Parts: sequence; structure tokens; C-alpha cells
Amino acid sequence: MPVLVFDLDDTLYPELSYVHSGFRAVAEFLSPLLGVPAETLAAGMIAEEGTQGRGQVFDNVLRQHGRWSKTLVAACLRAYRLHRPELALYPDSERCLARFAAWPLYLVTDGHKEVQARKAVALQVAAIVRHAYLTNRYGRHRAKPDPYVFGLICQRERVEPGQVIYVGDNPRKDFVGIKPLGFRTVRILRGNYAHLEADAAHEADRRIHTLDELTVEFVTELLGQ
Ligand SMILES: [Mg+2]
Repeated sequence: MPVLVFDLDDTLYPELSYVHSGFRAVAEFLSPLLGVPAETLAAGMIAEEGTQGRGQVFDNVLRQHGRWSKTLVAACLRAYRLHRPELALYPDSERCLARFAAWPLYLVTDGHKEVQARKAVALQVAAIVRHAYLTNRYGRHRAKPDPYVFGLICQRERVEPGQVIYVGDNPRKDFVGIKPLGFRTVRILRGNYAHLEADAAHEADRRIHTLDELTVEFVTELLGQ
């Protein structure tokens, strides 16, 4: 039976919602220390992320309140990574996972393994898939584009790569490593990479705008190539 594998961030849910959920957790932690309402702190961090990027957000909020220290920045990062996120799937993701509920489904995602595991649980996809492959568990060198965990999926399902479809959003790393091995690839055009032009090696076999386009007919046609 064909196997459907999904990326997580910006493929099944908007990653920015995780970032904002994390900022709210950090704001709750900082509020009593800084004597500022958590909502005010969270709003400031969210606004800043939009203009400056994520890297300096915790440094800046602490500096603004005259409380910067290496220890507090590290504590903010811990609160961010350890928080229990509140997340929701894109509606089309939910429909897609329901449509293919009888198929073997998997996740392959890079990033901090405990963070990614908490996201999969919060989105209630951990329970739907046969396994969520968190590449980080196998070492940093197993992150995409390394095809290692895709090989594990083939072994586990006893299928050839040509029977496995990977759906992801990032043409920089999602497809280039597995395409030469015969895996089928689908790029969903959303998130930060939606407008990135990719060369032939990095581009997926198909491009879609929503997971509603991923029908049984679509999948059958792609596997039949
Ligand atoms: Mg992604």
C-alpha cells in the first residue's frame, strides 16, 4: 500500500502559531519578574518578531525593562521550549488526514526533538500517524535533506521509495535528498518558502496550494509515473 509522509511546520499547521504560543508562555513567566502584564509583554514580543526576527526577542524585552542577563535569557528560552503549545491544524490538513485515515501515514520533521514531539501531540497528529520521525533523534546529520529516516519508513512498510509520497513546504531541504532515490514529492505553497523559486533538483514533482488538492486520484497519478 502506498505511504503518505508529511512534514510538520508550515505543512500541517502554521509554524508562526507555535512561535506566538511560546511568546505567551515566556510572557507569563516574565510578568511577575518585570511587573508588567503578560498580555502587554506578549504583544510586544509578537510585534517585534514581525520586524526583527526571532533571534533577539528575549534579549530585547529584558533590555527594555533593564533586566537583561544571560541567565534570564536562557530561562526565557527554556520557558519557550518547554511550554505546552496550543495549536490547531490547518482546516485542509485536518480534512486530508481524515481522507487518508486508512493509509499508512508518517511525519518527518527536523528541529529540537522534544519541541517537535510536543507540537505533534498538541496537534493530535501523533496519535494518527504510524510514527513521527523526529530526525534530531538520530543525530543532527540525519536532518533533511538526509534521506535516512525515509529509508526507515521503506523498511518498516516494506515498500520501494516509488510508493512513498512526501509532502513538505521547504524546497531548500524537503525534496532534494529523497528525489534521486525515487521518492515522490509534493510541495505545498505556504509559509516562508511559498514564493521561493527552486531549481529542478530542489523542486518537488508537484506543487499544490492546499492539501484539499491531495486526493486519491492525485496520489494514484503521481505514484503511477
Ligand atoms: Mg516545513
